[in-house]
Parts: sequence; structure tokens; C-alpha cells
Amino acid sequence: MIVCKFGGTSVADAAAIRRLAGIVAGRAREQPLVVVSALAGVTDGLLGLAAAVHAGDAAALGGGLDALVRRHEIVAGELPGAEPAAEAVRADAELLRSSLSSGLGRRLGPAAIDDLAGHGELWSSRLVAGAMSGAGLPAAWADIRPIMVTDDRFGRATPYVQVVNNRARECLRPLLADEMIPVTQGFIGATPDGVPTTLGRGGSDFTAALLGAALGATRVEIWTDVNGLMTADPRIVRTARTLAAASYEEAAELATFGAKVLHPATAMPLVRAGIPIVVLNSTRPELPGTTIEPSADLERVGDSPIRSISWKRGITVVNVRAPRMLGAYGFLRAMFEVFERHEVVVDVLASGEISVSLTVEDRSRLDPVVRELSELGEVWTDDARAIVSVVGIGLRRTPGLASRIFRAVQPANVEVISQGASAINMTFVVREEDGPDVVRRLHAEFFGDD
Ligand code: ADP
Ligand code: ASP
Ligand code: MG
Repeated sequence: MIVCKFGGTSVADAAAIRRLAGIVAGRAREQPLVVVSALAGVTDGLLGLAAAVHAGDAAALGGGLDALVRRHEIVAGELPGAEPAAEAVRADAELLRSSLSSGLGRRLGPAAIDDLAGHGELWSSRLVAGAMSGAGLPAAWADIRPIMVTDDRFGRATPYVQVVNNRARECLRPLLADEMIPVTQGFIGATPDGVPTTLGRGGSDFTAALLGAALGATRVEIWTDVNGLMTADPRIVRTARTLAAASYEEAAELATFGAKVLHPATAMPLVRAGIPIVVLNSTRPELPGTTIEPSADLERVGDSPIRSISWKRGITVVNVRAPRMLGAYGFLRAMFEVFERHEVVVDVLASGEISVSLTVEDRSRLDPVVRELSELGEVWTDDARAIVSVVGIGLRRTPGLASRIFRAVQPANVEVISQGASAINMTFVVREEDGPDVVRRLHAEFFGDD
């Protein structure tokens, strides 16, 4: 079997869903399982409703929900077979309307926000299953929530992999064996008690990978709006090129440091079985895309030793300076305990003799972290920073790359430099406003254009 995951732009309107049905039809003999995201923009729209509730703005809540329902109705109206889906969306939206209206003026808790944010996938999967049936495909809508069992860290829930494996096999294998094409939701899950959760933004890729691993897929296809994994975000670098191949490690590094085309955890469930991920463009399905697999250290991009450059904005650097850490042990442990206690994720770390700098993305719990770190030394933070990451297996075996990277980056100021132990990435921090330019300059240096 194979897993075909379609992102938001690949289900954005009726034309996109028709293309999806065509792509899946062409793979019917390979036993596809379809995983879908919400229609492009719908998750943001749903989260906007939470803001309206909090602001006590009944008009924005009503108008926002009406617009979302209308959008699904229009798409359904253009797709034979999808009318029952529109009915289901309307009924579901009415339930949402009454529960959200009763909370006007109050802040929704994390559980309520996850419940709300997950409706986009429930709705899009209804439309897609309906349209596929209308197109003569044996689609079977499947609710992922009893399968994707997670902990209760709302907004970034972690799936219980063993349970997911068992449930996926129990619930989905019989459908595949009956030659049905299951259509299910990415991104969402539920706790063992059935309370809805989400896996974090962009999490549908992770869902696809977990299901691919559980069901022993021969590959996991990620259908999106670009030709594959590219040498840089094509929105930043016009001349970015598509990579024919990349390794799991490279894909994970790129995704962790901002390449939104894949969720950072996507490769993780697939490593053990060596199941390839193929990133493909749903508007140009004839193109080969990028194959991500264990052995992909082969191809170089032109003669460049690096594979791709990514960047991530909205980063804060936390600096701790403590002369007494010189020659002392236990300092880093004490520091990391603070981050751990407050569940703040650290992305990049650079350490000198008497100071440590590290980057965090989520500022929401930073204040208590800074307060507690102050007991260890002098602490200051730098906001509005970006992480730039140069990734490629070639970094391992090409001496002198660091100086080439830093020459290309000038005159931007480089603040925190880190090279992972795996040595397939070189990562550093710049001011956010310099980020796009730095990426373009590095791209020109290594790929010779733009
Ligand atoms: P989907 O909705 O299909 O999941 P996303 O918007 O999450 O799609 O991811 C696709 C986007 O990722 C592209 O439109 C592109 O702008 C961005 N992107 C960032 N870095 C890269 C990269 N290195 N290669 C390809 N796309 C990238
Ligand atoms: N719809 C969700 C989001 O916008 C999940 C996804 O697209 O992967 O984040
Ligand atoms: Mg995505």
C-alpha cells in the first residue's frame, strides 16, 4: 500500500480536489490511503474564531464561521457526490456556533482550541471522500481520532506509536483488503479518553508518516504546491531548484530549521523500515518530485557540496554569561533543567568558556525561564532573530566550507554559530530582517545564481 497526503493547497478548491481524485485514481492498484489537510487557510480561519470569542466579538465569530461554511458549500457545489459533505459541514458548524457563542468574552483553553482547530480536516476529508465517490472511486471516509491516540499536550500532542500502529492496522487494513480507498484526516488525534488533540501546525505530514509506518507502506507521498524539496524556499529564492533526492537526516534538518514543505518529525517513523517519502507537486503530477530515503547521499546539486538552505524567523536568543562556569561542572545541566521544567524547546546551542547562547522559538514561557536562569549568571535576550541553516551531507567531507559560508553572508552580522555533531548542517543566527538576503546570498554562492 501507499500513503498519499494532500496539503492545504492541494485541496484548496474544487479544481484541486478533482486533480487529487485523478492522482489517486492513477494509483488505485497500489492500494492508496488518502490523508488530507484542511482547505488552505481554513485552520487559520478557525483559530481566528478563537480570537473573536476571546474578544467577545459576536459579529466576527458569526461572520467568520459563515464564511468558512460558505467556502465548503461552494466547493461541494462544484463536485458531484460532495453534497452530503456540505450538509455534514453545515450541521457540524452549527454545533460549533452554539458552543463558541456560549463562551463569548472568555479565553478558550488549549483543549477547546485543539477541538476547534481540527474541524478543517474533518470537513475537507468529507468533501474529498464525497468527490472521490462521485468520480467512481471506492472511497471510505475514516475518522482518524480513535486511531491517532495521543497524550494531552494540546497544540503539540505526541502520538502513542504502539497504540497508533495497532489501531491503524485494526481499522484501516480491513478497508484496504476490501479494495476501498480510506480517506482520513491529518493533523488531528484524540487522547485515550477521546478528547480531541492536534499534532501541531503542519502536522498532517507526520500523520501520513505514522500511518505509512503502521501499515508497512511502500512509500509515503507528500503532495504539495512546489515541485519537491528545493535548494531554498522558492518564495525567497526565485531560482531555487528541486532536489531529485535527499536523505532522511537532511530532510529532518531542513524541516527543523524552517523548510515548511515537511513537518520536522515526518522522517522519524519511517527510518526503521526505510520507507521512502516522495514530495510531489499536485498541480504537476507528471514531475518526479524529491525522493527522501536512507541512501540518498549520492546526488549532488550541480557541483555544490550542500543540498539546501533554510531559514526560520521569530527566534529569540537567550544568552547566559557566568564567569563561574569556567572549569566548573554541572552548569549546563542546571541551565537545561530550567528549560526542561518549563518545557521550552531549544533549537540551537553555542557555548563559549564563560557564556552560552541558545535559541528558542516559543516565547510564551520564556519569562520564568529568564528569571530562574538569572540565578546562574547574567542573562539577556535578543528578539527578532532568524536561524539560517545550510544543510548537506557534503558538509561532512568538504573542508573550508565554514569560511565560504561566512564570507558569503557578509555584511550581515552572524551571532550564534553551531555545527551539529552529525556535521550535515551549519546553523547560525542573524537579525530577522537580514534573513531573506542572507539566504539569497548563500544560494548564489553555492548554486551560482540569483
Ligand atoms: P502544504 O499545505 O502542502 O502542507 P506547506 O505550505 O506546508 O504545504 O509547505 C509548502 C511550502 O513550503 C512551499 O510553498 C514553500 O514556500 C515552502 N518551502 C520552504 N522551504 C522549502 C524548500 N526548501 N523546498 C520546498 N518548499 C519550501
Ligand atoms: N491544517 C493544519 C495546519 O494548517 C495541518 C497541516 O496542514 O498539515 O497547520
Ligand atoms: Mg504543510
